[in-house]
Amino acid sequence: MSTEENQNVCSFCGLPGGEKRRLIEGDNCFICEMCISVCYQMLNLHDEAEEEETKIDSPKDFVLDLTPQDIYEKLNEYIIGQQYAKKVLSVAIYNHYKRVQNNLYHHSEIDIEKSNILILGSTGSGKTLLAKTIAKILNVPFAIADATSLTQAGYVGEDVENVLLRLLQAADYDLELAQKGIIYIDEIDKLGRKGDNVSITRDVSGEGVQQALLKILEGTVANVPPGGGRKHPHQEFIPFDTTNVLFICGGSFEGITDVVKSRLGKKMIGFDAAGASQEITDKEAYEQVTHDDIQKYGMIPELVGRLPVLAALNPLEVPELVRILKEPKNAIIKQYQTMFQMDGVELEFEDEAVEAIAETAHKQKTGARGLRAIIENIMLEIMFTIPEQKNLHKCIITKDVVLKHGKPTCVVENKTA
Ligand code: ADP
Repeated sequence: MSTEENQNVCSFCGLPGGEKRRLIEGDNCFICEMCISVCYQMLNLHDEAEEEETKIDSPKDFVLDLTPQDIYEKLNEYIIGQQYAKKVLSVAIYNHYKRVQNNLYHHSEIDIEKSNILILGSTGSGKTLLAKTIAKILNVPFAIADATSLTQAGYVGEDVENVLLRLLQAADYDLELAQKGIIYIDEIDKLGRKGDNVSITRDVSGEGVQQALLKILEGTVANVPPGGGRKHPHQEFIPFDTTNVLFICGGSFEGITDVVKSRLGKKMIGFDAAGASQEITDKEAYEQVTHDDIQKYGMIPELVGRLPVLAALNPLEVPELVRILKEPKNAIIKQYQTMFQMDGVELEFEDEAVEAIAETAHKQKTGARGLRAIIENIMLEIMFTIPEQKNLHKCIITKDVVLKHGKPTCVVENKTA
């Protein structure tokens, strides 16, 4: 407090200090008690406004205002084909978030089980895309983990909890929001027993990680190390409740069609020997995969039991790959067209060219995953030269460009006017 209050003025309002306006001295400046009071009120108001903002975004107010059909339609905007899987997922997600919203996991007299999801599908058929898109539609945090890396770490409860940390990071360390997020665990089929041994005995090598995974899938309070990495005794942990986290596991389950075919084949023999000779296609077999088949394939029953919703994706055929190139909201062709537009050039892909790209990807058996690599390969040279070409109006990608690395047809702007 200044000793010479009468001579000094408040640096904020400019009024002189006195008995009724005491001044507090800073470094070459003063502030009077009236200004302090105003500042205090201003800060309080600001805090209240901030509180209001967080209330709006707060997961406590998480409202699922989408019906299963709404979710299905939104999935359609991004994912081509896979109608059955999309339907199964729309219902499962709706049910899961309805329970979360109504807090039924905790308060219902009826024990409502968690509806974690298992997606089967070959590489590039859209498993990750489905999980990612669901998180996007619902606007919840999302994290991806690879089951094989969990197994390889081999230390109980370490890496598994790091997956939760990733979700927490995706939620910007908002624990409540993270606890309502979605985790996608890829390559789940590689977890546990390896090979095609169909006996009931387990492979003990991955047992610890599997047990940890079982717990978080079901719902537990896990201790997450905030900085990631290995746990050490004096570390502070974040208690992370996984009860409301939706787990989506995915795997290609290569060869599972044989398990299905042998089951269906046996059944047919039982009814009609003639029917048994009818070939079941892989597509048909995939559609009929059951939890029993998954178990026979080599997954431990506890894990299968914690993934009650089963959705099988079909391998993508050429017509679907064509649609994937053209139709989704962020289709690859649309992305290239937008990039060209920025250079003032219209980009057109002839139908035959699109078909050739789809056929090439289909032959590579990498599903839709190969499409981008093929297009990028074709477009590299064109993207390299386009910005240099003056007056270029339109660029047409023909079948020759795709199959024979030919040059695209270029239309130059007529500047005669
Ligand atoms: P995986 O089944 O191996 O997880 P992804 O979901 O990662 O396959 O798919 C790879 C890419 O292929 C995605 O980024 C997406 O662009 C495309 N893709 C795959 N399936 C579809 C689909 N059904 N509809 C639209 N795009 C798809």
